[in-house]
Amino acid sequence: MKKITCRLCSHYCQINDGQTGICGVNSNENGTLTCKVYGYPTALQVDPIEKKPLYHFLPHTNTLSLGTVGCNFKCPFCQNWQLSQTKKFDTTNYISPEEIVKLALHHKCESISYTYNEPTIFFPYAKDIAIEAKKVGLKNIMVSNGFMSSELCNEIPTFIDAINIDIKSYNEKHYKKTLKGSLHVVLENAKTLKKKGLHVEITTLYIPSLDNEQINLIATFIAEELGIDTPWHISSYHPDYKMMESKKTPIESLKTAYSIAKKHNIKNVYLGNI
Ligand code: SF4
Repeated sequence: MKKITCRLCSHYCQINDGQTGICGVNSNENGTLTCKVYGYPTALQVDPIEKKPLYHFLPHTNTLSLGTVGCNFKCPFCQNWQLSQTKKFDTTNYISPEEIVKLALHHKCESISYTYNEPTIFFPYAKDIAIEAKKVGLKNIMVSNGFMSSELCNEIPTFIDAINIDIKSYNEKHYKKTLKGSLHVVLENAKTLKKKGLHVEITTLYIPSLDNEQINLIATFIAEELGIDTPWHISSYHPDYKMMESKKTPIESLKTAYSIAKKHNIKNVYLGNI
């Protein structure tokens, strides 16, 4: 049986029959690419949209948030690793895209968010939900590491209205070696999505390896490439997953990051998790 290439994210995994790609949830089943988590959300709840975080899109509304398991990154500091770094999920209850939309309406949500783990890897499910959601006037949101393939990046604006993208550092080596992604890809996708008219907000989790120089480079990128109107959330890190020995972000580091962002005239900068 021949390999098939998954084009959801920029890993472009070539998958042998019976095998899954890096994310652990897209597999080659008898020559057909199958998203195994389709219809099986592992996390599903109503959140204030500000929790995504999105502060400048449908403010003061609720969003129905859903996530599955798996991820295309391997961040050792993941704050959601129980979902992102497992391949186990419950297949007892299949929830169709139509049922997800009904739930959103029932709970008076104005949007549906694909979040908690990386939505790129379950995009076939997210897309079908988004199509149904649009029919009844609901907006669609992704909370993403930005490592989608260029093909998916071009497709996203047809279905998705707003996105929060993580810029986790400004160091390509760190992205490649530690996170198993690519800074270049994330930056290019952020620029493309902004240009295509999506509402874009950026989040940076202030992990221990960050410093003022990297914060300055991220601020420069946001100001010069995305625009000073792009909201930037700089969140405090707490020890988690494989980095339990590390320290919580000192409040002073966050305050310095805030003033660096302000020096670049970024209008809306928010310190999170403090
Ligand atoms: S989503 Fe990404 S990591 Fe998963 S199989 Fe497809 S290309 Fe590989």
